[in-house]
Amino acid sequence: MAVRSRPVSLEGVPVGLTPVSALPGVGPALAESLARIGLERVQDLWFHLPLRYEDRTQITPIDVLRPGDRAQVRGVVEAVERGFRYRPQLKVAISDESHQTLTLRFFHFHRAQADQLKPGVSLLVYGEARYASNGLEMIHPQYTRIADDDEPALEDRLTPVYPTTEGLGQKRIAGVVGKALALLPGDDVLELIPASLAARHGLSSLREALLYVHRPPADAHLGELTLGRHASQQRLAFEELLTQHLSLKRLRAAVKRRHSPPLGGDGQLRQRFLDQLPFALTGAQRRVSGDVAADIGRAHPMLRLVQGDVGSGKTAVAALAALAAVEAGYQVALMAPTELLAEQHLRNFRHWLAPLGIEVEWLAGKVTGKARQQALNRVAAGAPVVVGTHALMQEGVAFNKLGLVIVDEQHRFGVQQRLELRDKGKEGDRVPHQLVLTATPIPRTLAMSAYADLDVSSIDELPPGRTPVQTIAISNARRGEVIERIHAACLEGRQVYWVCTLIEESEQLRAQAAEVAHAELSAALSDCAVGLVHGRMKPKEKQQVMDAFKAGELSVLVATTVIEVGVDVPNASLMVIENCERLGLAQLHQLRGRVGRGSVASSCVLLYQPPLGQLARERLQVMRDTNDGFRIAEKDLELRGPGEVLGTRQTGQLAFRIADLSRDAHLLPAVQHVGEVMLSEHPRQAEALIERWIGGAARFAHA
Ligand code: ADP
Ligand code: MG
Repeated sequence: MAVRSRPVSLEGVPVGLTPVSALPGVGPALAESLARIGLERVQDLWFHLPLRYEDRTQITPIDVLRPGDRAQVRGVVEAVERGFRYRPQLKVAISDESHQTLTLRFFHFHRAQADQLKPGVSLLVYGEARYASNGLEMIHPQYTRIADDDEPALEDRLTPVYPTTEGLGQKRIAGVVGKALALLPGDDVLELIPASLAARHGLSSLREALLYVHRPPADAHLGELTLGRHASQQRLAFEELLTQHLSLKRLRAAVKRRHSPPLGGDGQLRQRFLDQLPFALTGAQRRVSGDVAADIGRAHPMLRLVQGDVGSGKTAVAALAALAAVEAGYQVALMAPTELLAEQHLRNFRHWLAPLGIEVEWLAGKVTGKARQQALNRVAAGAPVVVGTHALMQEGVAFNKLGLVIVDEQHRFGVQQRLELRDKGKEGDRVPHQLVLTATPIPRTLAMSAYADLDVSSIDELPPGRTPVQTIAISNARRGEVIERIHAACLEGRQVYWVCTLIEESEQLRAQAAEVAHAELSAALSDCAVGLVHGRMKPKEKQQVMDAFKAGELSVLVATTVIEVGVDVPNASLMVIENCERLGLAQLHQLRGRVGRGSVASSCVLLYQPPLGQLARERLQVMRDTNDGFRIAEKDLELRGPGEVLGTRQTGQLAFRIADLSRDAHLLPAVQHVGEVMLSEHPRQAEALIERWIGGAARFAHA
């Protein structure tokens, strides 16, 4: 059988688009493993970038090893100890020519492995050094036995470590990537960014960049590579950011080509609404309302995100938009992520719209049976304003003439979910306008990139007369003092939130933690009424407790983070957040926004579990220093990266391979320029870029 040179470029199919199975040595089983991580075509392998690197090009003497170093060491086994105290473990002491000892420690090992590691045996070891009680150790290092006097074969390049999947070891994946790279064409074929644009922004060769990141030379700067700051990585990060930008813009363009009803009424309802409001709009509210009014007055869909800190008055902006739709004879749907929050909107809207003679429909889980059917009938017949949770809006609700969808507190949603909501109320080519409200401000650089499919307006001014929340951080060791302080506050007639945080645990564990805290506080504050609300309670029970708190019947409300969004009890002026170090800054800021809504001075106590690491300390400092959600978001981005800020870890949006928005934000202006030109003048290349970077991953995500 002559398979010396298998064809890797089928007639007319570019090498990059050839299936991986065309590579020598890639059989069906391997192809299947590769497909599991989205690697189906040769170009998917080119762009399957290493997560990090190992330096096996040299041997580090044990005496220069520092804790935290990942290094290769050569040594002779001095002593072996098998222990079983808590669990089996194997400790192997090795030493080298520097006459220092390093301990290798294994918790999982085979009998044969243990038998092989005898005093006198020479080993080549790679691992991470760390402190141990008696010097340095490596836990579960990789190692190979070598002959005593042989010079071990050292790598001549840094070793890439690839993202992989079970059953597909590093050697094998590196092997196939290597075979794919052997087919990497020249830049004339590979490059999709037009030469003039590449030159203008100083982009280096893509081919060189790929070859470098897959096989960095021995003298490459490992530190720089680890941080992703090498010029080759930056070149690829540029292309990845560009691709993401293009795909969002393309999405946006597709939606913008659709039609929407122009919602420009005579302004009468809006004027009457403003006249009856007990306050004047802030400058920021007026400006943002102007943006929205201009958008919805057009015949193409509005896609606008309004971001504004907690308490900045987004609801009034939403109401104005809603009234514009009603004036024009269209329906409006307002959706919130939780029933609690949706109900609050319902109350606000009823309070504001009833005097204008506008009924507000209510669709939530608790509305069932006949009441629900009647509400559905009225919505189908054209009821002007409908408030509810998302879930209900998505199932079986038919509108008559839906012109505007308003979605509150949408930051946990990804692009896909936004699209689904947008398609609700679609009739043929016609889609409703969409307004998204979020209280999680997004730094400008991120907004331009992550929300390139939306226009963004910011309400960057709070209504007058607010007193900023005083924030302090106190160690849990002083819990007793904090409880005394709460007691004093309650006796003065103030109301207090006590927030229990347990993340990444089940709702059940969260509820338990809150129950424990509730018992503790009830006992300590026997002359105050202490309530409890958590996510495992029925909506009705939750509402009863919230109502009691709002009515002042409860002094203290022990709650899980269910109260994070939107709940409004102006008399609550003290908040204690337990284990605050577990939450992100944006979430802490959200929670804190529950107090400081009235005119009395409010405080927030961040109760932390000592000891705090450096990062945790810095984060708490930010919370103490500022009440400005935009600054907090910038800081969160800097300290924790965009996934956390956008809350997209769950939705998988923005899972970059090499780009990092906080590190690479400086590339965005050029990315936007190149993106714009490519979309208008080189749409085919733009398409090919999306296919290259996102195509495989998208198939993988849907698998
Ligand atoms: P958020 O942006 O957090 O949704 P809200 O819309 O709930 O904020 O507004 C917070 C509070 O501020 C509400 O009680 C609201 O009535 C009030 N409010 C809104 N705009 C103004 C304003 N321009 N002047 C005074 N109070 C305002
Ligand atoms: Mg709100």
